[in-house]
Amino acid sequence: MYISEIFGPTIQGEGRRAGRPSLFIRFAKCNLQCRGFNVKYTIDSKKYFGCDSFYAVDKNFKNQWKKLDYKQIINNIYNLSDQKNIDIVITGGEPLLYWENKDFQKLLKYLIKNNHFITIETNGTINISLQKKYQRKIMFSIGVKLQNSDEKYTKRVNIPLLQKLLKQTTNSYLKFSIRGKNKELKEIKNIVNNLDITNNQIYLMPISSNKKELEINSQQVIQQAIKNNFLYSDRIHIRIWDNKRKV
Ligand code: SF4
Repeated sequence: MYISEIFGPTIQGEGRRAGRPSLFIRFAKCNLQCRGFNVKYTIDSKKYFGCDSFYAVDKNFKNQWKKLDYKQIINNIYNLSDQKNIDIVITGGEPLLYWENKDFQKLLKYLIKNNHFITIETNGTINISLQKKYQRKIMFSIGVKLQNSDEKYTKRVNIPLLQKLLKQTTNSYLKFSIRGKNKELKEIKNIVNNLDITNNQIYLMPISSNKKELEINSQQVIQQAIKNNFLYSDRIHIRIWDNKRKV
């Protein structure tokens, strides 16, 4: 499994478990390329656009990724913290690209058996099945991509998969990164109206690759959350540490 970074202990900065002490495992590779989030970076003086995890997505960063098996990942996280029951956040990239990998399943099973609460942050486009009991204990934080990330991804919104993840697990939720525009809310409603979902499973989160952008977008997103009776998720790590990595 290709790992971009393992870090912590820190706090989860967003979503339903915001504020909880957590360790993060960031898997490398993604099936999408969200250029619409407009994070600029350069490689050999050439400019690129991506998301705030571009270094886990763009294969140009492959030399920074480590190939680790599940035992090495476990050693890494326990070297960072021996705090019992600390949350583990599995993120990316797109970690569900590894779902069928035996080591990925061994990792999940081991961590759940050892009483860690597991969140998997996913873009909700990789079809998986939850056949094992331990898999249903995972909370999926599903960052559904809208046209603001890249127009073509909206066509990949997988309603049956979203429904399955929301129904078969406890506390899983959808998370929409937006600037607070009415057209973004229209798109969100088109998606959630096709799902059997409650409003406390729907978070609106400001698009923000840095503190300045978070401050610009958050008020408008809060207003939309109030108006539409959805939940608001801040991005605490960006408010505190700006765009610093591994925090
Ligand atoms: S799905 Fe997530 S990790 Fe992948 S490119 Fe889009 S924002 Fe980045």
